[in-house]
Amino acid sequence: MRAELADELADELAAREARGLRRTRRLLTTPQRAHVRVEGRDYTAFCSNDYLGLAADPRLASAAKSGIDRYGVGAGASHLILGHGSAHHELEVALAEFVRLPRALLFSSGYMANMGVVSALTGRGDAVFADRLNHASLNDAALLSRAAFKRYHHNDPAALERLLQTTPARRRLVIVDAVFSMDGDIAPVPELLELCERHDACLLIDDAHGFGVHGAQGRGTLAHFGIVSERVIYMATLGKAAGVSGAFVAGSADLIESLVQNARTYIYTTATPPLLAQALLASLQVIEQEEWRRVRLRELISQLQQELAGGPWRLLPSDTPIQPLLVGGNAEALALSARLADQGLLVPAIRPPTVPQGTARLRISLSADHSAADVTRLTAALLQPA
Ligand SMILES: *Cc1c(COP(=O)(O)O)cnc(C)c1O
Repeated sequence: MRAELADELADELAAREARGLRRTRRLLTTPQRAHVRVEGRDYTAFCSNDYLGLAADPRLASAAKSGIDRYGVGAGASHLILGHGSAHHELEVALAEFVRLPRALLFSSGYMANMGVVSALTGRGDAVFADRLNHASLNDAALLSRAAFKRYHHNDPAALERLLQTTPARRRLVIVDAVFSMDGDIAPVPELLELCERHDACLLIDDAHGFGVHGAQGRGTLAHFGIVSERVIYMATLGKAAGVSGAFVAGSADLIESLVQNARTYIYTTATPPLLAQALLASLQVIEQEEWRRVRLRELISQLQQELAGGPWRLLPSDTPIQPLLVGGNAEALALSARLADQGLLVPAIRPPTVPQGTARLRISLSADHSAADVTRLTAALLQPA
């Protein structure tokens, strides 16, 4: 490395540290669940997106093992060469059926799915409209597409409409988180869809945090709102509530076939190991059948809200397992997170640029693997004087 660059990097890292923005990783030595061991110490963790508590489920693990016995470990090729196997196919059929859309396509991750879809469907001369609080992967996808990128005020359909009214672009794509990942609130999907109909736009819904959690049997945010529309492109991840890894996009047969032909993050990458598809088939069954997991989540959400009501902390308005506790300053958020960690409770501090300046927060995320006693331990620690 050139000495100049090395010096610049060292300066940048020091500046980041000084502003309370240095990110660090903890070393987890157990499976992902409510009770974990980190660097030799036991904690109750409120950090994962494993909302249904399936990441360490033995049924998923044994499905993965039988996947290894049948298919080995690696897919060995991209889907369009010879990496597309019967496990992937079966999973795509099951996912499409589950979300009640004609066809689904697997991607290796949600990040790649968003990059692939937006850049396959839009380019120069087109326009992409996005909520300001969308996930980074949707923002990056819009930039990569080279379409005009217009962001509107969070959850403000009127602001979106003003942009749609004035755009000269022929092809218009609205992209939005169904559940905002750092806020936990839900997008007004029916209103957004209505605007898309009026202004001839398509709507890409990123349901990373709704799939498995919302709607009857966990079928996701479209089911939650009862939406059936040809204009909707549905995307969800499989590493959060589904407990495994990967993502899928679902929609009309022509949409999916276009992605097979054009989505570069689908075409130019190795297919995921078939064992993951086997695990996901088992996961889908659990998601569909075990309603108690969603019931437990709802109970824990209202318990947390009730126990913190009237205290000094403000939870952002959210009915989802993402319950952000607003702190404000970066140093204060880090200090609160550290104080909880001293008491055996892990809750991540989320700071800019992941969230806007001055809105650093603790992102409490609940899982069906938590008990009522876990939540009470957290709220008791938060309500203790510092
Ligand atoms: C996590 C997340 C993604 C990325 O999904 P991965 O499978 O983790 O790459 C995309 N969109 C949203 C809203 C997310 O929260």
